[in-house]
Amino acid sequence: MKNLKNLKFESKAIHAGLDDEKHGATNVPIYLSSAFAYETPEELSEVFQGKRYGHIYSRISNPTVSALEKRINSLENGVASIAVGSGMAAINTAIQAIVGSGDHIVASKSIFGGTTHLFEDVLSRINIEVSFIDPLNEEEIKAAIKENTQLIFVETIGNPKLDICNIDSVSKLAEEAGIPLIVDATLTPPSIFNGKEQGASVVIHSSTKYMSGSGNVVGGVLTDTGNFKWKTCKSKHIQKIAKRFGNLAFIGAVRSDVTNVGNIASPFHASLLLSGLETLSLRVERHCQNAMNLASFLEVMGLTVSYPGLSNHPERELVESQFNGMGGGMLTLRLGSKAACFKFISKLNIAKNLANLGDMKTLVIHPASTIYLGFDEKLKEEAGVYDDLIRVSVGCEHIDDIIADFKQALYEV
Ligand SMILES: *Cc1c(COP(=O)(O)O)cnc(C)c1O
Repeated sequence: MKNLKNLKFESKAIHAGLDDEKHGATNVPIYLSSAFAYETPEELSEVFQGKRYGHIYSRISNPTVSALEKRINSLENGVASIAVGSGMAAINTAIQAIVGSGDHIVASKSIFGGTTHLFEDVLSRINIEVSFIDPLNEEEIKAAIKENTQLIFVETIGNPKLDICNIDSVSKLAEEAGIPLIVDATLTPPSIFNGKEQGASVVIHSSTKYMSGSGNVVGGVLTDTGNFKWKTCKSKHIQKIAKRFGNLAFIGAVRSDVTNVGNIASPFHASLLLSGLETLSLRVERHCQNAMNLASFLEVMGLTVSYPGLSNHPERELVESQFNGMGGGMLTLRLGSKAACFKFISKLNIAKNLANLGDMKTLVIHPASTIYLGFDEKLKEEAGVYDDLIRVSVGCEHIDDIIADFKQALYEV
């Protein structure tokens, strides 16, 4: 093995996890094998006992998926990463590894709609209570933490509200309460946000988005940053596992849940994601540049636009301190009415109207009539979903083409 220690992010994104001494392949091979054979029954038994390293069955582990996990962990500078079948699977698995019936979670109000559904429709059924708080209001967070609170869950940038959570401040509140902070950082990929440096205990990404980059995969990853001492965790389940695994208890719990529940990543998707990660920092730089340019253009046109990189964004300072000065690839636009939004979207030529983000292609959606359909008015307002709001995931096309497309569509409204 070559020495790949101390490489910078861009280099690790290309080299970490690649280890094919047998053939010298320059991409991690796709191991399409449900199970892995051993010469002797003694060897297989030793692998089962954990005395010998090896893969057994692809629901438990798979070499291609393991390579992806190594690459992501190397980018996050974490303890270990685990890849699963979707971003939702990553969120659900991380949370259920810690909480059980009778427990309580403190979560941000401005989180992804699917996560709100998980909290309200699934976790509530197994007697897990969630208190929704404004992630920018420290007093509200403190007041929401109870005896049976097991964790705090926030997103780096709310979607579509685009409010920015001060991860460092919230991590201090979590630390005082002796509970882990779980951060969904999907909107701020690891090339612009390092959860470990900001104090997160666990960082989650829907790899469907920027990590894939081409909109060809549904996937999720989670990383234990090493910031939280799991041996001291209040969770009964984690305490039980910590007896055997010590501070690796969280990763141990997640690995066994992924194995037992079966929400695994496929080796084919892992291979696509390994390629996606190679270009992550380049792409994200362009997403951020294009989003900044488009936001400035829309602002000059006199439109109501929200973008974390603009100087009028209320948490603009956090863009510098938390995201290396990069405002991300998402912006929102308010056009005065739902009818105006629909007309505008219909007239766009390049931008695609669909429910995804973080793709090389520019994507738009009217959240109120799609992702947030059926949500009650109060929840929608708290999540920043208005009837006249369009969410834009700015792609990597030439900025002149994106601006020209928006300009011609806006003339029609
Ligand atoms: C898309 C998304 C998710 C869910 O991820 P899937 O891969 O679609 O399951 C979770 N959080 C955020 C912020 C997202 O954008």
